[in-house]
Amino acid sequence: MTTHIAIVGAGIVGLSHAVAALDAGYRVTVVEQDAAAVLSSIRNFGHVCTSVQAGELGELAREANPIWRSLAERVGVEARVSGTLAVARTEAEEGVLEELAALRAPAGSEMLDGKTAAAMLGVTAPTGIRSGLRLAGDITANPRTAVAKIAAWVDAHERGEVRFNTTVRGVSEEPRLTLETNRGDVAVDHIVIATGHLVGRLFPELAGDVRECVLQMARVKTPHVMGLGPAVLTGTSMLRYGAFEGPAQEALRTEMQAIRPDLLEIDANVMFTQQPDGTLLVGDSHRTFDAAPPFLDERWSELLLGEVASLLGTERLEVLERWQGIYATSADRDLLRETPLPGVSVVSVTTGVGMTIGPALGARTIADL
Ligand SMILES: Cc1cc2nc3c(=O)[nH]c(=O)nc-3n(C[C@H](O)[C@H](O)[C@H](O)COP(=O)(O)OP(=O)(O)OC[C@H]3O[C@@H](n4cnc5c(N)ncnc54)[C@H](O)[C@@H]3O)c2cc1C
Repeated sequence: MTTHIAIVGAGIVGLSHAVAALDAGYRVTVVEQDAAAVLSSIRNFGHVCTSVQAGELGELAREANPIWRSLAERVGVEARVSGTLAVARTEAEEGVLEELAALRAPAGSEMLDGKTAAAMLGVTAPTGIRSGLRLAGDITANPRTAVAKIAAWVDAHERGEVRFNTTVRGVSEEPRLTLETNRGDVAVDHIVIATGHLVGRLFPELAGDVRECVLQMARVKTPHVMGLGPAVLTGTSMLRYGAFEGPAQEALRTEMQAIRPDLLEIDANVMFTQQPDGTLLVGDSHRTFDAAPPFLDERWSELLLGEVASLLGTERLEVLERWQGIYATSADRDLLRETPLPGVSVVSVTTGVGMTIGPALGARTIADL
C-alpha cells in the first residue's frame, strides 16, 4: 500500500512538504485548522531572498530557489525572477554593498551607480541614492495567492488531499500512528507538523525557546510609474541578513546607532516588494512577545512608510491596507527540525525566511524518510 503522510499546516512549509511527498510517490493529507491558510505565509513580502542568506540558510535558500521556479511553472504560483536591488544612501551602506559584491554576491550581480539604481525604481528626483547592488536570481512571489494555489494543486492531485477547517489536537502512537483532529482521527504512516509559530501548542517541550515576532506591514500604491521591478532592500536590511556580515557591516551598525537610532529602536528592515498588480508591500518592524498583542503602533507605520516615500522621492505614500504579521523566532536557532516520536517530523523556521527556504525544508524531510 502507498505510504500515507499527514501534514499539519497549509502554510508554505507544510505545503512544500506536501509537494515533495507527492513528487516522491506518497499519499498525502494536509490538515489545516482554518478555512484557508491566513497566517505567516500570506502576510509576508513574498521575497525569496536567496542572495542574502549565508551558512546553512544559504544552502537551503539555494536549494529552494529552483523549487520556487518549478512551482511557478507546474502549479501556477505567481512568482517571477525579480532579483533584488539593495540601495546605499551613505558611504557606510555603500561599503557593505561593495564588500558583498566583491566576496559573496551570486553570478550576474553588479554594483550600479546612483543614477542607474534610482532609474530602476523609476525615481528621477534626487533622493540621495549613492549606489546600488543588483543581486541576481532572487524571486518575488505573490504571498496572497501562493499557498492557496499550492493547496489547490495538492488537493487536485490523485494522491493528495487538503482538509481545511480541521484542527489537530494531538498525535497518538498506539496501535497506529494517528493524528487526532476535531473532525475525527486519521491513521497514517508518517506525520509532519508544520504549524509555524504555533508549534508549541502541539509539542511544548520542543518549542520552549520559540516566541512570536510581530511585524508591521502595509500595501501602498506606487507614487509614479514603475515597471515590475526588483525587491528593494535598504541600509537596515544590511544589518539583518547573513550575507552582509563583515567588517563593513560593523561600520554601518555604528553609523546607524549615531544617525538612525529610531530605525534601530523598532528593529526595522526597511524594504519593499512589488506585486503583480504593481502595488508595493512595504515594511517592516520587529518586536518579540510570548503572545503577540494585535495593536499596530501608528508611529512605527509612519516611520517605515516615510522611509520608503523618501527613497522613492515622494512626500507621502497612499496606503491601501495595513496588517500585522507574526513569525516564529528563537534567540538560539534559525530552524526547529525535530523527531519527537518515531514517524513524526516537526519543522518550523524560527527566523523570518520561511518563504525563502520552505521548499528546501520540504524536499529534505521527504528525502530523509
Ligand atoms: C510580515 C512578514 C514578512 C515576512 N517576509 C518574508 C519574506 O519576504 N521572505 C521570507 O523568506 N520569509 C518572510 N517571512 C517569514 C515567512 O513568512 C515565514 O517563515 C513562513 O511563512 C512560515 O511558514 P509556515 O508554513 O511555517 O507557517 P504559517 O504560514 O504560519 O502556516 C502554519 C499553518 O499551520 C496551521 N496550524 C497551526 N496549528 C494547527 C493545528 N493544530 N491544526 C491544524 N492546522 C494548524 C495554521 O493555521 C497555519 O495556516 C515574513 C513573515 C512575516 C510575518
